[in-house]
Amino acid sequence: MFQSLEFERVFRGVISLSLSMAILAVRRLSFAIAGQTILENVSFELDRGEFVAIVGPNGAGKTTLLRCLALVYRNWQGEILWLGRPAKSVGQREWARFVAYLPQEERVDIPYTVEDFVLMGRYPHGSPFSPPSSQDIEAVREALELTGTWSFRHRVVRTLSGGERQRVMLAAVLAQQTPVLLLDEATTFLDFRHREEVQRLLEKINTQRQVAILAVTHDVNTAALFSHRIVALRDGQVIFDGPPATFMQESILQKVFGFRPLLVAHPHLGIPVIVPTRGGGES
Ligand code: ADP
Ligand code: MG
Repeated sequence: MFQSLEFERVFRGVISLSLSMAILAVRRLSFAIAGQTILENVSFELDRGEFVAIVGPNGAGKTTLLRCLALVYRNWQGEILWLGRPAKSVGQREWARFVAYLPQEERVDIPYTVEDFVLMGRYPHGSPFSPPSSQDIEAVREALELTGTWSFRHRVVRTLSGGERQRVMLAAVLAQQTPVLLLDEATTFLDFRHREEVQRLLEKINTQRQVAILAVTHDVNTAALFSHRIVALRDGQVIFDGPPATFMQESILQKVFGFRPLLVAHPHLGIPVIVPTRGGGES
């Protein structure tokens, strides 16, 4: 479905290299800022076409982990491997053809139109001085359509609502057409209809195109319904890595979040989900 030849080329390379090797492997990753340990011995793998949710309380190190994986930070200890190849041996632009990173909402003014901003997502694929190729234009059109942002493509990003803006951010990483997406709270500012739409879109990209997704989220229920695996961080360490059905237990949620939630079986899927309580005797 992807039109981009570059994507096809990267993807064929991925497939021919190895089907069994993790697309992204993190081994004993540790990272400190100003002498303070933020991540400690983090290890996990992301397989081709996998959808993994990263959860954990505020300050657990989730955003820092994604920044390490996106090579925003490079001075970590341990290993990050792309199909067995050390990330530190790969340049930033080449890495951006493998891995697209959607940062947690940053309130920066973006003075460009939606269309021009999404086109910037194509930067790893061409020369910064050449005009957009037909593949670039097609990738942008497809990303705008998939995210429902086509109708306001001529608006300036800073004039958009939080939800519209978040879908534009997602369009920019989709236009990058990488085999891996790193998403940091991509649905936080969306109303429930748009959240569900974006979640379905991610599921479609994941299942139809085998794009591996590593998504940081606070929405544990959605993570339980959509992801193949959940990795939980607390105090910079992985304290759970396993299937959602195992994660959605009171004792494990208590260990991760320090809070014992009320769980009920989802009426259609049977998976336990968290329901709000009023702090009374209902749990
Ligand atoms: P999360 O995304 O799980 O909420 P973060 O990765 O943003 O957590 O932060 C993890 C910890 O690292 C927090 O205690 C935060 O204050 C600290 N931290 C993150 N970035 C910096 C930084 N640039 N300088 C100092 N401390 C930081
Ligand atoms: Mg964060």
